[in-house]
Amino acid sequence: MFHIQPQQAGAWPPSLQYTFLSRFSAPRGSAVWQRITQAWRQITPCLDAVPPRNAEEIRNVHLWWTSHYIGENFGFPLPRARQLAHRGMHCLDDIYEADSFTLKPWALLQQQFGLVAHERPLVENFHSSIPLPWVDLYQQTETQAVEKDWLGLFPGELCVDPALVFRATDKFSPVLPPGDAVLDLPHETPYFTVGALSRRLVPAVTPVASGSILRGRLRRVRILTAGTSQAKSRQIHHFYLAPLSRLIFDPGRWVWSSGDPLHNYTVPKGRKLLNPRLHLTRTISQKWAGVVEADFTPDWRDVWGSARPRKEAAFAWSLVHRAVAVNHWRHRAIVEVSDLCQCCDLGQPETLEHCFHACAPAMRAWDFVATILHCLAPTPRDAGPWARLSWKQCILNAPLPGTFDALRPLWSLLRGATLWIIWIQRNQLVFHGHRWPTEVLEQTLWDAFLDLARMAWTRIAWCEQNQPSGITKAQDSFNATWLHAGFFFTPTERGPRWNYDRPRTGQYQT
Ligand SMILES: [Zn+2]
Repeated sequence: MFHIQPQQAGAWPPSLQYTFLSRFSAPRGSAVWQRITQAWRQITPCLDAVPPRNAEEIRNVHLWWTSHYIGENFGFPLPRARQLAHRGMHCLDDIYEADSFTLKPWALLQQQFGLVAHERPLVENFHSSIPLPWVDLYQQTETQAVEKDWLGLFPGELCVDPALVFRATDKFSPVLPPGDAVLDLPHETPYFTVGALSRRLVPAVTPVASGSILRGRLRRVRILTAGTSQAKSRQIHHFYLAPLSRLIFDPGRWVWSSGDPLHNYTVPKGRKLLNPRLHLTRTISQKWAGVVEADFTPDWRDVWGSARPRKEAAFAWSLVHRAVAVNHWRHRAIVEVSDLCQCCDLGQPETLEHCFHACAPAMRAWDFVATILHCLAPTPRDAGPWARLSWKQCILNAPLPGTFDALRPLWSLLRGATLWIIWIQRNQLVFHGHRWPTEVLEQTLWDAFLDLARMAWTRIAWCEQNQPSGITKAQDSFNATWLHAGFFFTPTERGPRWNYDRPRTGQYQT
């Protein structure tokens, strides 16, 4: 959209107009053209008009392409609406008398657009269905700019670029008379000129000399604001389009359902609009409303960390999205499913917090993991009773106490594997009636942890054979995570000897 401008002020190039107004004016054309119009048709329901805020905006309200006051083309069949638009009947301005809020005489309308007699009530329907606030807004005798209005000073014709453009402020918002005005621009108000080719607003370097007389017609103008696509060096650019009164289609008054202005469109944004599954209807903090802060964002880099097996990463991701089918969740969809936990006798609803933390088998798993953390930290023997890991630490990866800082990469992996195994343990009981004794649970966890360590080790071997440049990184990562004297393995000349003897829960030495 950056380099698109009307050929003459106020008129969009036909190609662009067809794109915007494909509903009634897209000609049959090339395959590419068909695809563009098809995509456009699919995406237009995602657009919504911003209600008009001043008289000019009311007058360029589009007759056919509006979602705000009456749909269905006011009773005109679609092909007829297309035809009339081709004949220049675009917006309210086209059917109104100059500077007044009345319809042009019927004979004139008939002659101008080729309307037929039985269409008269339909046209009158336009006029009578205009909301009252618009009428009030329109009939204000004196037009006064309001703060943030973009204004242009036109010494000549309105189709020629304005001599300068500025934005009304709370201190300076001039009256806009119908004829010429004398503009006394305050010294401190920044103003712009329009780049002849780029259409960009160019900030004026020299302030308006005091006492210099600026004369011309003062009009609201449409400025399109867009950011560059580079996220890093994001810059905002302003582009001059035309005076509002000359627009037959005002792109500044349309927004996508995501809130972005019409012209601030990118292909990824369009994809999201067309496929709602690609964007979250609710943010993570909304999904966990009441238990996390409103600005909570999960550490996705940790969730999808490269050292983590994919199935565990995907599972951790589902947990953060609260999309794991625990009974409480299933019960909401299928009432026959009891929402109670079947793994313990507490008679509690099986929520995520219960299933993956508070429930006795889950708690046993976390106590085992906590043992490993305390052994490695190491926590002094006389440090008193441990604070158990909280559900936020276990499920949402809330930070651990500072004494565990050095164990962060290890904890990330252990946590992912533990969540996964708690889920397997739960399913074994729910679906197969197998209740794991504590030893089985602990041994399964320990085996899973050793598997993770083995994976990290084989990565070094893989690098030696396939990607020598990655050896150092793989080795560093292995050492940082798993190299704890004699805990997971004993180093030997032929590689690690894995320690299959798991630590005992609650027992550790300094
Ligand atoms: Zn339970």
